[in-house]
Amino acid sequence: MIFNIQRFSTHDGPGIRTVIFYKGCPLHCDWCSNPESQAFGYSLMYDRQLCKSFGDCLKQESNYLSAGENRILVDWVSVTKPEKFKNICAARALTVSGEEKSIGEIIEEIEKDRSFFEQGDGGVTFSGGEPLSQGPELDVLLLELNKLKIGVAIETSLYVPWENIERCLGRNINFLVDLKHTDSDKFKIFTGGNADLVLSNIKKLAASNENMTIRVPVIPEFNHTFQEMKKIIDFTVALKTVREIHFLPFHNFGSAKYEMLGMDYKYSGIRNLVADELDEYVVYAESVGLIAKIGG
Ligand code: SF4
Repeated sequence: MIFNIQRFSTHDGPGIRTVIFYKGCPLHCDWCSNPESQAFGYSLMYDRQLCKSFGDCLKQESNYLSAGENRILVDWVSVTKPEKFKNICAARALTVSGEEKSIGEIIEEIEKDRSFFEQGDGGVTFSGGEPLSQGPELDVLLLELNKLKIGVAIETSLYVPWENIERCLGRNINFLVDLKHTDSDKFKIFTGGNADLVLSNIKKLAASNENMTIRVPVIPEFNHTFQEMKKIIDFTVALKTVREIHFLPFHNFGSAKYEMLGMDYKYSGIRNLVADELDEYVVYAESVGLIAKIGG
């Protein structure tokens, strides 16, 4: 299931890219800028700015919706089938994130941008959510794109069983791998996952000689100190086959979506980082022989 297709992206791999965003992620990072990507199924979203008048939706779904002051109140815990809300609101204040698309339909979307890919090293990037948590459809899609000679990048946390990664090897994929932290405790608290699995998968992928770039989301209170970043950079250098590291400054552009999904945003009120604040990480990474940059 996908939740977005973004065209003409220049931040998700080389050249001009079409980014396919998959729904479903095994992690729940506190700073996640795509919270609608976390659930593996459909997600209900409510945008109170678009909510003009209410009545119809309340009549149809009174078990889950009630009238508040100038807004609808959603009983988020009780909503088990968000897809039921798909066409309930003409003003699109209530919408459903998530769309089932066949492989043929996704290829058709990608093919529309082929002429842009050919202007450089562009292609398609699978993002999310966690693309490597998708089922066998992703394998078929990768095979088809190989046949069509369209370059593929995958943005991934590698927080998946090794088998999910192994079946993508040898397909000329550009792996853009999030390395969030090397400390298990911090990783667990801020993402809900196990850092050891990620570190082990990164080592195995590096040993497979696949094309991999390490990308580090730089997040206040999580990993934004020189000591923590040094450990991440040293881990990357020790992989030997990885040459490039990108530092991605924290931003809170996804904050409104948390309210629309009825979720808590733990990074509410924390300011965006600017590139200058990451300079010392770049300087250190370059001093140990990596190509380093700020941004995707
Ligand atoms: S790994 Fe990415 S998509 Fe998944 S929760 Fe973390 S930031 Fe969000």
